[in-house]
Amino acid sequence: MIQITGTTKLLGVIGDPIAHSLSPVIHNAAISTLDLDYIYLPFPIAATELKTAIAGFAAVGLEGFSVTIPHKQAIIPLLSHIDEIAEAVGAVNTVWHTEAGWQGTNTDVAGFTSPLINLQDLSRLNPVILGNGGAARAVVYGLYQLGCSKINVFGRNKHKLATFRDSWSGSAVEECLTVRGWEELDSYLSQTNLVVNTTPVGMHPHQDESPLMRQQIDLLPPQAIAYDLIYTPRPTKFLKEAGMRDLQTIDGLEMLVQQGAAALKIWLQKDSVPVDVMRTALEKYLAERGK
Ligand code: NAP
Repeated sequence: MIQITGTTKLLGVIGDPIAHSLSPVIHNAAISTLDLDYIYLPFPIAATELKTAIAGFAAVGLEGFSVTIPHKQAIIPLLSHIDEIAEAVGAVNTVWHTEAGWQGTNTDVAGFTSPLINLQDLSRLNPVILGNGGAARAVVYGLYQLGCSKINVFGRNKHKLATFRDSWSGSAVEECLTVRGWEELDSYLSQTNLVVNTTPVGMHPHQDESPLMRQQIDLLPPQAIAYDLIYTPRPTKFLKEAGMRDLQTIDGLEMLVQQGAAALKIWLQKDSVPVDVMRTALEKYLAERGK
């Protein structure tokens, strides 16, 4: 149990809406286990109130906070410094306070790569990324960090795909990245060893949908890994069908837990936090709600 006293330090998450956020579940489980004098709270902040809210956070001495939709890009000009990861991704999901002001990073990248880093021969990954939205940016940068030299991103909107590609121009990622229309997908599925779904297709309550048809999943080689960023339901239809083919599957829960763990390490200035506790708390919470 967390006991709030006059000395309790504040952490939190900002977004709009924020009621669905699972971050309070993850972080307060860790805080409670570590018996720390902290509390992690949800803050619903409208886009028009972002600047005022950040100034208020500084005034009340908030130590750090998570950032979710719609503030991940808008917060950047309000921070004193962002690191090279946030700079490359173009979005911040974790902010902490220092004497020099608010600092920002993006722990979605570490969250995404954490289930992959124990794979052998990471540079041989030949990934296919489905979707070119915000999460795809963290995925592309994570794969670049892992040493992938060929990253194919597939999208349904040519204009948005071109904007996505152009946003990396001049960076080291540009060399590795190719964007392609959805109609080209099938010929790449038969050659890939990692498919990452970054679209919301298949997410609760649309669990009967999948970004890939069964015939497309059948194209994947036997050694391919199917990775879905969605964490409700578990598994998604995409992962269920990949599992039926005995492909290795990874769902989005680990990414969610690991991005949170990476943020908590920054706020607490610790090398390790109880990731197992965070994961178990989240699994229990989702199971209790039938998700
Ligand atoms: P986003 O910025 O809205 O991007 C969604 C992408 O999916 C866009 O490229 C969109 O294409 C595409 N898309 C949507 N519906 C599609 C369809 N029917 N067919 C093909 N493409 C489609 O969303 P996001 O923030 O990247 O989030 C995407 C998913 O990742 C969500 O399910 C989210 O929950 C999950 N996620 C998980 C974690 C985690 O920690 N596990 C972290 C971040 C995000 P258009 O632009 O053409 O619409």
